[in-house]
Amino acid sequence: MNHSVALGAPTVGQEELDAVREVFDSGWLSGAGPSCLAFEKEFAAVAGVDNVLSTSNCGSALHLAQLALGVRPGDEVIVGDYTFPATGHSVMWAGAKPVFVDVRPDIWSIDPEQIEAAITPRTVGIIAVDPFGQPADYDEINAIARKHGLWVIEDAACATGATYKGRNVGSLADMTAYSFHGRKGITSGEGGALASARAELIDHARKLHTYGIAPAITREGAADLPIPSFDELGYNYRMSDVQAAIMRVQVRRLPDLLLARQRAADGYLAQLGDLEQITLPTALDDRTHPWQSYVITVAPELDRGAVAMALRAAGVGCNFGTYASHLQPLYGDQAALPVSAEIFSRHIAIPMHANLTEADVAYVSETLRSIVSDSAVRR
Ligand SMILES: *Cc1c(COP(=O)(O)O)cnc(C)c1O
Repeated sequence: MNHSVALGAPTVGQEELDAVREVFDSGWLSGAGPSCLAFEKEFAAVAGVDNVLSTSNCGSALHLAQLALGVRPGDEVIVGDYTFPATGHSVMWAGAKPVFVDVRPDIWSIDPEQIEAAITPRTVGIIAVDPFGQPADYDEINAIARKHGLWVIEDAACATGATYKGRNVGSLADMTAYSFHGRKGITSGEGGALASARAELIDHARKLHTYGIAPAITREGAADLPIPSFDELGYNYRMSDVQAAIMRVQVRRLPDLLLARQRAADGYLAQLGDLEQITLPTALDDRTHPWQSYVITVAPELDRGAVAMALRAAGVGCNFGTYASHLQPLYGDQAALPVSAEIFSRHIAIPMHANLTEADVAYVSETLRSIVSDSAVRR
């Protein structure tokens, strides 16, 4: 094969390496140090709120959010179904039960019209997911939450830098969790963050992310010898200062990286928009799509697996979209959710990252066009 295009790729280089060298020179490599604090300040501008905590990943940020909001064993948490299972797992880590709700057929985020039917006396909150980064319907979701006395957490693992009706992702829910895993829009390999307008929630999460005591940096320079005492079960959910240094560079590059992804999405729309055998992803006008992944829906008469194998054979990286959570055995009895189940069976993620060239997008588009027109991939 003469052309091969990766499904996803991080955009990191000399600037990030230089930042890592500076952390080595500083001697503070572990978490909750000066680099983490600087990153948190800078990321607050991205989130559009004053309070940010750096974390080990998005799963830990989601867990901390629920602990800070007071989730207890026996509680129920409503979760948008179509998501990576970190969302559902985090509810179980908090000892609660995830109750999955079906998603909009066009943008795959939780369907606000189906939320109220899932609310019971045990429901304490809603975790809305931004599928592949496009924000869910926060005006409608917040209105339902207010009416029933529930909190809202935004799983913005894929949504760093996105906006909804002109407002930053980070300022749309009570708490917002981000991922900086290598497949996300900006990355330190692994990493995450939690943002909130409410300082007391982030303060509590900060304590719980460092075993239940104040981080060591707050004791530095003390005139006496403060001895912390442990009164609450915490975790080590810290980002390291090495990762934070990488993230500080990535935050500076975020506008360029988002632009590069938008250009690739524009290219796919121009070159594939007329194809009858696939449906391209919907990007709504009242919110921005950061294109963490570019996910197409193959027509029911096509064999999704055969299309994916043909793409890979031609050097085009691809995968299924994400998971219909309610179908995962771990979560036990859940209602049937037909929209999520359907897209789970028909989605294919095709290459999307900030390093894609125009030639890459053209090659992927031509390859996909010829594969879906071939009778060999019909069922
Ligand atoms: C990637 C992802 C996560 C998990 O992120 P980690 O940083 O790996 O914990 C959670 N939710 C969604 C929607 C994701 O896409």
